[in-house]
Amino acid sequence: MSPGRRRHPLLDLLHQREGALTRDLVRRPGGFGLGQLPVRLAPDATTPMICGFCSTGCSLDVHLQQGESVNLSPTTHYPVNLGMACPKGWEALTPLRAPDRATLPLLRDAQGRLQPVSWDKALDAFVGRFKTIQQQHGADAVAFLSTGQIPTEEMALLGAVAKFGMGLVHGDGNTRQCMSTAVVAYKEAFGFDAPPYTYADFESSDVIVLVGSNLCISHPIMWERICRNPHNPEIVVVDPRRTETAVAATQHYALRPKSDLTLLYGVANILITRGWIDSAFIRGHTEGFEEFAHHVSRFSIGRVSAASGLTVEELERLATTIHEGQRVSFWWTMGVNQSHEGVRTAQAIINLALMTGSIGRPGTGANSITGQCNAMGSRLFSNTTNLLGGRPFTSPTARRTVASRLGIDVTRIPDRPGMAYDQIIEAILAGSIKGLWVIATNPAHSWINQPHLADVLDRLDFLVVQDMYTSTDTALRADLVLPAAGWGEKDGTFINSERRFGVLKKVARAPGEALADFYIFKLVAAAWGCADLFEEWECPEAVFQILKRLSEDQPCDFTGIEGYRMIEERGGIQWPFTRLSRSGEGERRLFEDGRFYHPDGRARFVFEDPRPVREATSSRYPLVLLTGRGSSAQWHTQTRTEKSPMLRTLAPRQAYVEISPGDAADRRIHPNDRVVITSSRASVGARAFVTPTVSPGQVFVPMHYPETNQLTGSSFDPYSRQPSYKHCAVEVRLPGPADQLS
Ligand code: SF4
Repeated sequence: MSPGRRRHPLLDLLHQREGALTRDLVRRPGGFGLGQLPVRLAPDATTPMICGFCSTGCSLDVHLQQGESVNLSPTTHYPVNLGMACPKGWEALTPLRAPDRATLPLLRDAQGRLQPVSWDKALDAFVGRFKTIQQQHGADAVAFLSTGQIPTEEMALLGAVAKFGMGLVHGDGNTRQCMSTAVVAYKEAFGFDAPPYTYADFESSDVIVLVGSNLCISHPIMWERICRNPHNPEIVVVDPRRTETAVAATQHYALRPKSDLTLLYGVANILITRGWIDSAFIRGHTEGFEEFAHHVSRFSIGRVSAASGLTVEELERLATTIHEGQRVSFWWTMGVNQSHEGVRTAQAIINLALMTGSIGRPGTGANSITGQCNAMGSRLFSNTTNLLGGRPFTSPTARRTVASRLGIDVTRIPDRPGMAYDQIIEAILAGSIKGLWVIATNPAHSWINQPHLADVLDRLDFLVVQDMYTSTDTALRADLVLPAAGWGEKDGTFINSERRFGVLKKVARAPGEALADFYIFKLVAAAWGCADLFEEWECPEAVFQILKRLSEDQPCDFTGIEGYRMIEERGGIQWPFTRLSRSGEGERRLFEDGRFYHPDGRARFVFEDPRPVREATSSRYPLVLLTGRGSSAQWHTQTRTEKSPMLRTLAPRQAYVEISPGDAADRRIHPNDRVVITSSRASVGARAFVTPTVSPGQVFVPMHYPETNQLTGSSFDPYSRQPSYKHCAVEVRLPGPADQLS
């Protein structure tokens, strides 16, 4: 601690608690209390923990020397990754050592400069400014934006402190940008947000249909699982681009952007017309098929061909492949979710699985692949859209259940879900939200339509950013920065795409006065005056036990998991895992008994007419801009991956645009030319990558560059409120003398 700086008394308390919990902490000479290694690890130990990037949930063995984590290697016997890791996993420790780590709280002074302050002063500012806003404008005038990157226990504590303690109503996660479509689709179709699969299904399918998923680079270890499939499967990719996955597939359907809903209805119509459906499954386990069949009867093969750009023969081949498969699995990710009609598109995929009986058996399923390492934890326990445990805020019974299991007054629980991310942004613009607390996410880079967002953030009275780094686009705009520990510097659990709990742990010291988010939330609760509500929430594993209690009788019931040790010993555990499941072993998929989570046990066919995209191409903006992952070495806004010299060598540093040879020639653009991409919102610079992997009339820019969301526009799915990152209108041209590019 710096001379003269007074340590917050609560930090001493937390230090003691953390010390008591881990018992073998190594005191760092002169260090701040919490930046210490757990003692349960021998100084030269190797310990497994779950990777903190994507939702695959690989296990990594972290190697310690003299109490310092020095290296890692993939865990060989973990059932998820089987000894494999992608480049990000191999480099997971490197971002912890970056020079721009946040090490002290920073508060903006009267001259507009961020200055180091004590935790006392930071907490005073946090509480003083937010309470003043609430007194002047109402409790709803402060909101939070969280993340899918922190452990489940931290998410739950944040959601509980914010909503039950601070009286906030509005809070959302960056999972709105990637998974909310799948959540709504599953809830309406199955009765609960429940991805049904296990990764073993990749290896047991004989037909694998990937819709809007570039699995090769987005989820490389899942792709490796497909490569291990011994059944010589048909690998079908439905994607406008000839992606790395499409190149490796056995069939690629390069449909027109955002014609996917029409295509899926057309395929359903072919299957129904030819009797290629599982009538017994439909009769026994679903509702709404007759209405669905009537709906898709209007999607003739000619109409679908005209809309999608696929030939009649291609459509016939796709339907025949699905029909001839014995174990057909359908997988989707952001190409579907990030759409103006993502929910109905995801449900069109679910409908295909239901009508062909491709669910509940090995190698089948309507399977949404998640994005972030703990998006699944966020979906169930962040207390944002759902009340803890996947319950509706609007249900008095659910509120009473949660209140009684937490021992709190039921009136502390809001009776409505908070605003979605885009609604929070609009409320800031409208002046009804004045204070914002951003945790482990970077909306000033990642949110759609950046020119609009920049204006919005500048309107806030008080912006708090809690992050590992001081240099993110959002932290640079903050009034207060709270320094947070990163992955590897704290304990907790993640839930991966196949519903598997995995443990992460503290194997490195957080720098300076940075704290695990968990303890920052504890400090906030104490400073706010609501710490008494969270006495039982004393450490991550104590919260795990609370969440167990909250999960009871829900589809995600995991009351049979004793604790972290059991998860580690079993190589992760998938939910559900009830007290009765204790003797169960191995990987499990849902719906093997044909019972879904609606009260009548039946799945629903949900459908609707396709709707036009918000922004069609025009003579001024004649190209469709597609966005997506650029490489397996880049993660989201690159706040972590750009810290690794090795990862930096695996992807271009500058933004680039993939453009077809014909479109490039029409514009006199040559490979590697500096070009200008213009939408109705902004003009940005990029390098031209002339390639036939994009079709004429389309261009592609990876999402990792700050330029990308300067271009994208505010378009959202009406049910999930997820942004449509995959379609807006642009032009690409050589720069002129007047161009001043961002
Ligand atoms: Fe980590 Fe995902 Fe790579 Fe596995 S695939 S090592 S979880 S980033």
